[in-house]
Amino acid sequence: MERFDPDQVAVRSAHFIGGQYVEGKADTLDVKRPSDGKVYAGLPVADADLVDRAVQDSWRAFKTSDWARCAPRDRARILRRWADLIDADVKTLAPLEAIGSTRPVKDAASWDVPFTADGIRFFAEWADKIGGDVAPTRTDHLGMTIAEPYGVIGAIAPWNLPLVMSSWKVAPALAAGNAVVLKPSEMTPFSVLRIAELATEAGIPDGIFNIVQGDGRVTGDALCRHPRISKVTFTGSTRTGAAIMAACAENGTKSVTLELGGKSPQIVFADVPDMEKTARTVARAITLNAGQVCVAGSRLIVQRAIADRFIARLSAIFAELKAGNTWDPDATMSPIISNREMERIDGIVQRAVAEGGRIVAGGSRIATGNEGAFYQPTILANTAPRMEAVKTEIFGPVLTVQVFDDEDEALVLADHPEYGLAAGVHTADIGRALRMARGIEAGTVWINRYGRTSDFVIPTGGYKRSGIGKDLGRQAYEANLRYKSVLVDFGLSKLC
Ligand code: NAD
Repeated sequence: MERFDPDQVAVRSAHFIGGQYVEGKADTLDVKRPSDGKVYAGLPVADADLVDRAVQDSWRAFKTSDWARCAPRDRARILRRWADLIDADVKTLAPLEAIGSTRPVKDAASWDVPFTADGIRFFAEWADKIGGDVAPTRTDHLGMTIAEPYGVIGAIAPWNLPLVMSSWKVAPALAAGNAVVLKPSEMTPFSVLRIAELATEAGIPDGIFNIVQGDGRVTGDALCRHPRISKVTFTGSTRTGAAIMAACAENGTKSVTLELGGKSPQIVFADVPDMEKTARTVARAITLNAGQVCVAGSRLIVQRAIADRFIARLSAIFAELKAGNTWDPDATMSPIISNREMERIDGIVQRAVAEGGRIVAGGSRIATGNEGAFYQPTILANTAPRMEAVKTEIFGPVLTVQVFDDEDEALVLADHPEYGLAAGVHTADIGRALRMARGIEAGTVWINRYGRTSDFVIPTGGYKRSGIGKDLGRQAYEANLRYKSVLVDFGLSKLC
């Protein structure tokens, strides 16, 4: 994908309700480009009335369109057509994704857009696979559990991978026959509008996929509290997840899926067979998207015998990264989403130094001459579990280092009191790797790799305060279904 001029990208700022763009009221939020801090668009904020309109429209579409009623294979065919349209639109979608987010345009074109399309295809394939069961009843009864969609699902997405994260919410919900009202992050609200337009073009009935724009306090909260929303599926911070759960509980107890924060360890034993490959894996796990990934491997736990050599190698790999605007195809290091977030990250790093931490690489912002927010990939050694830098989700390119001597100590250090999203274990000893995998309290453990493959069958989700439920896999599809029991009595027996 070539360099693009961010000032030439046409951005449509609106809601998307009933298959159409709906212009908002004048009270807009400013939307900035993290690469240079420039305000490039305003955003309407949907108030409770507009959220109500979107949800009621969606409910009507769920009840009156054929989306939930049709043969599931027909739904799947439309979803696959939608995915094809997304793939074909990469030249429009990639700049739209990159311009105001932290996603470099090259990555947006080669990964975010095609991965979004492929995820939709994956969930489309589930549409006719799970229908329910026949129960083992007495012979003059027929007992069935029938899998049914919920109705209207409220989806709330974060800013860090706008298209991919939104599609992981929307695609399984639609494949299962639901209608969806999505609220994207107010910081990255535009690329999903384009895919909603393509959804309509693909044949998804008007009102089945809607977008309301706005912040969490007004729009997100109204969506969670709406009585016609029967399930909320959310990806974002643990704090917001708790607020959403409370809002859902206060308004009629709704089902929730919550994909939340993490502070994931990468454990490196001295016997790793290929130190260079391991170092590159560990480096990528904390620098990808400038560490703004829920499963970022932000805590290195390394065995003493190789610690110094390994850290030196990591520093050299960090130095290869080239920070640059998201519209620059040569950039390999993303910006931080905002200056405020960058100041928060820097504050944690500086406080870690004051507490005895040692900066081995990075440790400060990168001067850009404008309001662009870039932070040096940073290694913080000499850290301890009590330190804020080790406890808090930094959501930036900051790797803390802790050294261990044996397996038991590695397990103790890996345990986080709150989070349990993911972990990586690097060792040549498969027995040890599996002991660690069973011992670590996390929703995902990667052995001798870090991060997902490009398939969708392995679910992702957190233990502890990192979440409830799963995205991806069969589990994510099933979470968008509820089960109705039907018992038929065809009356041969006199006993009831
Ligand atoms: P955030 O929690 O600040 O916001 C996420 C979304 O929630 C946004 O759309 C926001 O407007 C909305 N929101 C905020 N307050 C709300 C409220 N009271 N009611 C309803 N909606 C509300 O998170 P963020 O800064 O956008 O994203 C970063 C966080 O997301 C990190 O903690 C990261 O770990 C997490 N994340 C988790 C996963 C996962 O799969 N577990 C994936 C990506 C990101």
